[in-house]
Amino acid sequence: MPALTLTVFGCSGTHIGPTRSCSSYLVQYEDYRLLLDCGNGSLANLQRRIDIDDIDAVLLSHMHADHFADLFSLYYARRLRPDGPLPLDVYGPAGAQAFIAQLLPDDDIFPTVCHFHVAAAGDTLQLGPLSIQLFASNHPIETLASRIEVDGKVLAYSGDSAPTPAMVDCARDADLFVCDATWLERHRPHPDGVHMTGAEAGAHAAEAGCTVLLLSHIFPSNDPAEVAAEAAGSFDGTVMVAEDLQDHVL
Ligand SMILES: [Zn+2]
Ligand SMILES: [Zn+2]
Repeated sequence: MPALTLTVFGCSGTHIGPTRSCSSYLVQYEDYRLLLDCGNGSLANLQRRIDIDDIDAVLLSHMHADHFADLFSLYYARRLRPDGPLPLDVYGPAGAQAFIAQLLPDDDIFPTVCHFHVAAAGDTLQLGPLSIQLFASNHPIETLASRIEVDGKVLAYSGDSAPTPAMVDCARDADLFVCDATWLERHRPHPDGVHMTGAEAGAHAAEAGCTVLLLSHIFPSNDPAEVAAEAAGSFDGTVMVAEDLQDHVL
């Protein structure tokens, strides 16, 4: 039986930690492989599991470095192959290509290797067998949350987000909800419109009726067990903490 699988290649919030790379997740169904975000350090984990040539597409949630920095490495790996460049489809918010290209020479062949497609909240993408609905996260810059459906299974990914009703819609009845849980309640006040606490992630999962909540993007100095305890206080379903190279079969 083909199964929808999520593999964590990076789950550290904001900056890389001693055992966690920055945000990146592989979504796999049959032979199709979608990379959700490509944060710093994550490409090392990716190569422990799959061949770089086997990535079919990348979906970038937003243009913060902890979600796209390793796209530079991925680009060079796909460009400098003995058999010649292997193009890669990259989906992301408007302006993503120009933003990344600022760090490359003007005549760089980056756009001929990474084929960018503009994605926006409200869009539904069909990538291979995956149907992907995009929602607006609540974050200081345009950020896309994704609801991925295939074969009756639902996987939701918040990207970076503060509380928002849109995230409840995104994660409605999800089998697995990967949610930003950067912060702890006891460290309040936090800036508005940036991230969630563990308790807030749990409250969203409860309202959405999710089965499993996977807490991610936890700030490196926060204790994941404490974040999980917060989430369990507001969500009766299964609460898990993301770890690099962890697999989740839906
Ligand atoms: Zn982030
Ligand atoms: Zn961010």
